[in-house]
Amino acid sequence: MASCGICLKPTADAADYHPQCAMRLFGTRRVPHFDVEMAELYAQAARLAGKMSISGVQIKLSMKVSEDQSRLELVSAGGRYILKPPQAVFPNLAENESLTMRIADMVGIEISPHGLLRLKDGSMAYIIKRFDRPEGGGKLQVEDFCQLAGISAAEKYTGSAELCVRLLRQFADEPLIEIRKLFRLMLLSWWVCNGDLHLKNLSMLTLGDGRHQLSPAYDLVNTRLVIPDDYALSLPVCGKKDSITRRTWLDFAKYCDLPVKAAESLLSAQTDALGAATDLIQQSFLLPAQKNQYAQMIKEHTRVLQGH
Ligand SMILES: [Zn+2]
Repeated sequence: MASCGICLKPTADAADYHPQCAMRLFGTRRVPHFDVEMAELYAQAARLAGKMSISGVQIKLSMKVSEDQSRLELVSAGGRYILKPPQAVFPNLAENESLTMRIADMVGIEISPHGLLRLKDGSMAYIIKRFDRPEGGGKLQVEDFCQLAGISAAEKYTGSAELCVRLLRQFADEPLIEIRKLFRLMLLSWWVCNGDLHLKNLSMLTLGDGRHQLSPAYDLVNTRLVIPDDYALSLPVCGKKDSITRRTWLDFAKYCDLPVKAAESLLSAQTDALGAATDLIQQSFLLPAQKNQYAQMIKEHTRVLQGH
């Protein structure tokens, strides 16, 4: 049975996407045509370099849907979508990111509509709608946590979970709500073995009415699946980057001023998600061996959260 390239759930008649999923992501019942090869993508990226943001090894291209809604086009500026082409160094990263973001969505973490596009050579690219470009046009202000902390982008791997909490206390309009969202995101991020939640992968969004909120989550990947022997958190929680336990999360909840009951219910919500997340992993576009590894990892972390 085929899976939808957007929600990863089964589709009827071996279709590549559900019409309603295409509608949510692109505003049209059919996914716009994207007839580009990987080599061409990289050539385009090189041509447009300087005008586009290319951070680290991950190339990010700006895209828009054509006027007649039939095609996806690369643009130098003002695109409402970000496309991450597949990479030879880290195979299946797009498949990994789309799945990990979907698991985050499942536990109630806010994310932007996103999906997978199959390129002519069979490989897959990841596409996500920008959360800073509202439907009515214009651009919302976004500041990542390096900027909030007043440190350079090069220092994105410094800091801690506690620093992020303090930044929300200082800058968010409703700190208690935002800190609870941060706790849930950090817990999920650890659970899915994302070792790359650093200060630039967390942002504050200023809404049209001027309110400051934690932005929707982005760049969530199971990094342990990509670099198996090098798994540790980027931002330590209660001073720990690895060997995290149930107690670590309860202590961090205390730092967040979350009542014990609320913290325990957040941990339970995470462990309760194991079954559905495992199903989602099986329906995803990862390779069979990767699916088994991913499922095993979240099973281990579920046991840790349960206090075993
Ligand atoms: Zn779907």
